[in-house]
Amino acid sequence: MRVFKFGGASVKDASSMKNVANIIAQYKSDKLVVVVSALGKTTNALEEVVQAYFAKNGETKKLIAQLKESHFNICKGLFDDDTHPVYDALSNFFVEMEWQVEEEREEEYNYVYDQIVSVGELLSTTIISHYMNSIGIHNTWLDVRDVLKTDDTYREGKVDWNKTSALIHEKVLPLLEKGIVLTQGFLGCTPENCTTTLGREGSDYTAAIFTNILNAESQTIWKDVPGVLNGDPRKFDDTQLLDQISYLEAVEMTFYGATVIHPKTIKPLQNKNIPLLVKSFIQPQDKGTVVGVANSEHLPAVRMVKGDQCLLTFHTKDFSFVAEDVISHLLDAFSKANFKINMMQNGAISFQACVDDIPEKIAKIKAVLASTFTIEEKHHLTLLTIRHYTDEIILQHKTGKNLLLEQRRLSTWQGLMV
Ligand code: ADP
Ligand code: ASP
Ligand code: MG
Repeated sequence: MRVFKFGGASVKDASSMKNVANIIAQYKSDKLVVVVSALGKTTNALEEVVQAYFAKNGETKKLIAQLKESHFNICKGLFDDDTHPVYDALSNFFVEMEWQVEEEREEEYNYVYDQIVSVGELLSTTIISHYMNSIGIHNTWLDVRDVLKTDDTYREGKVDWNKTSALIHEKVLPLLEKGIVLTQGFLGCTPENCTTTLGREGSDYTAAIFTNILNAESQTIWKDVPGVLNGDPRKFDDTQLLDQISYLEAVEMTFYGATVIHPKTIKPLQNKNIPLLVKSFIQPQDKGTVVGVANSEHLPAVRMVKGDQCLLTFHTKDFSFVAEDVISHLLDAFSKANFKINMMQNGAISFQACVDDIPEKIAKIKAVLASTFTIEEKHHLTLLTIRHYTDEIILQHKTGKNLLLEQRRLSTWQGLMV
């Protein structure tokens, strides 16, 4: 039994969808769960619908109509018959969305966000499921919200593993006996039956949940790159493919900005010792990268970049030391604001934290800590992390940059720079 995940780039238009169907066709005699994201940049477009709804700027209808048109256009490239049931199925989701934005209710932003943004995955999976059935790749469309249960933390649903495991065993195993199961990434459902999402780019994680619970032999995530490289090819022009990396290497890489794998994907696989295959949907026959039990000794320097960073510096107002109790108070504020620190350092009477530049979260931190600390902010920074560094490589990457913070561990160097 295997789990596949196809992201937005792999299903961005009709010919990409045909390519995905071709890949799946090679494995159709296996037991297969296929997790799919929204088409191309649909999630961003749906975020604009949510913004328009709250801005009350009268744009929502137009934006929804554009999305409907682009989805219907893709269907025209896949189905000869204009009356194919796929059109009705898609229309129903659009009707629901229009209904959602028609009434002006006093609802919480994150709740509304999830009800609207989740439609992207429902649409994409409906199209690909119908298309595959129409060309003889039989599959069952599963509404992932029937099995993947979360709490009500909208936009960052926390998975209820016990309930989800019971439901996947009860509902998905029998479906797998009949053939491929095709479902949505990124979505979940609260005990009150409201839709949640798992955090942007969360479909890799959805696949990992299925992989773990079903004890799959492997999980494959199909990407627009040959596999995991030693740097994002959009940012470095001298990248090389890493054939094999350990779970630890993958966790470190994703934590510090290797966006090719969602950071939450690794734990469920490592816990069951299941390999993660990162392969190219453009060259599906190539081996790609295997993430599993591997030796990291011979890896080249691996580079990760996180842009849009902010450095917060806290000085104690009364000159008291930044001792353990003060650090604990500081970290407690970050934890309560659900704000991840990417790098930190402390001095005698100061503490520095490098974070993603998220204004609402910074405001929360300042509200709690401004009475005790003088707080300085520096914006528009970049955090570069290099694993398996050499002095020469560090020099090469920091030359000409203004370094604000630097940290060196045995296998990891980090520099926060302008
Ligand atoms: P998906 O289509 O599944 O959402 P993403 O676009 O999120 O896939 O991930 C693929 C992208 O990740 C690549 O196009 C690449 O630019 C980026 N990336 C970042 N770091 C790396 C890396 N170390 N190796 C390969 N790709 C990387
Ligand atoms: N469609 C969602 C997003 O763009 C989830 C995903 O692609 O993994 O964030
Ligand atoms: Mg993505």
